[in-house]
Amino acid sequence: MTEPVVTQQKFFEQARQGQLTAVRCGRCGALAIPPKQFCPECSQRAWEPTSLSGRGTIASYTVIRVAPRGHAGEVPYAIAAVQLEEGVSMLGRVVDIPLETLAVGLPVRFRPLTYNGQTTVGFGPR
Ligand SMILES: [Zn+2]
Repeated sequence: MTEPVVTQQKFFEQARQGQLTAVRCGRCGALAIPPKQFCPECSQRAWEPTSLSGRGTIASYTVIRVAPRGHAGEVPYAIAAVQLEEGVSMLGRVVDIPLETLAVGLPVRFRPLTYNGQTTVGFGPR
């Protein structure tokens, strides 16, 4: 057994620097982000790291109006599923885009969000 080439921890370290890194399955070519242990398509573990542009478009979104515990000051905000140029999609929090202008197909760009030392995925305007 070999270690995964990009661990979740490494993924978030790189995300913090503004670089999105996915893994591409060396067997079937599937992309995974964040990195997974086994390929969801073919159940193999033959990952190769691949850097993503961070550019994509909004595929769908949800406006959060009732805050999760501890986030009362942050609502409303939107969570979007973003289809990246490389063909994978991932969820991220929308920042710096007025909620009323959100639309499916809107171009966005990855942006790391760091709160209390924890990096999460965000998407802002291109
Ligand atoms: Zn695969």
